[in-house]
Amino acid sequence: MKPQHPETAAPDDADARRAVAPVVCYPADSVARPDRAVLARLRTGLTLTDRITVPPREARAFRVPRGHVFHILSHEGPQVGDLNLWNAADLGERFYSGKTRALHGTHLSTGDRMWSSLPRLRPLATIIGDSLDWYGFDAHGCSVHDVIGTRCDPFTHRLLSGDDYHHCCHSNLTRALAAETGLSLAEAEAHVHDVLNVFMCTGFSRETGQYVMKASPVRPGDRLEFLADMDLLGALSACPGGDCSSEHSSDVAVCHPLVVEVFRPAEGALQGWPWVGPNAYDRTHGA
Ligand SMILES: [Zn+2]
Repeated sequence: MKPQHPETAAPDDADARRAVAPVVCYPADSVARPDRAVLARLRTGLTLTDRITVPPREARAFRVPRGHVFHILSHEGPQVGDLNLWNAADLGERFYSGKTRALHGTHLSTGDRMWSSLPRLRPLATIIGDSLDWYGFDAHGCSVHDVIGTRCDPFTHRLLSGDDYHHCCHSNLTRALAAETGLSLAEAEAHVHDVLNVFMCTGFSRETGQYVMKASPVRPGDRLEFLADMDLLGALSACPGGDCSSEHSSDVAVCHPLVVEVFRPAEGALQGWPWVGPNAYDRTHGA
């Protein structure tokens, strides 16, 4: 945290240095995005092929074939979901929260893509619809669906409280992945990674830069919609924080189930989809 009372005196040109205008690190138009006509076509004529209910304070795994659509739905009440995605054929390729944040910003919405880890660095999934896109950024600088948080985990909880809690999203995702794949808990845990915080409302404190959260604006019927850019294995945890208005890593918050629905799109709906292959960098690293 930045000190409120710094020890180092500001230099004479401090204001001038602070006044330098920032530039966007990765201009958003430099990555392929789906156009509106393709998105509209993809969102109609869907055929439901699978429906998974994620119980509160638990996670469930699900599979989505390449080119299929999946939705994450708020079902009975405000609830935040922690989403992990892997290449179904290679768990070593998984969602890269940090690079996705660098490419698309702190919070994702329609048209943004969920990029995979190096060296492939390609979309695992693309957001094609977001019923909370009206929210924007509020007066606190907060928005929904962040890629700035991590996932609640029992190690941080132990560090801060001295207690053990077994239904953090990290543990829920670990159990769900182990159950789906037959991996041991220890093997599965190594594949769990930083999440897309679905429906979570978060930001950074203007004064201190600390990660802050507030009650999610999500209501039953809200949904976040995705297109699978490859055969996916996913896992979704219904966070023990519920709507994340107060605390997580405990059984205190009111929690609700979430639902994952998988759909086959209509014939021809994927025409014009901006597929992206594995990254072409030759990996010689200048050696
Ligand atoms: Zn959580």
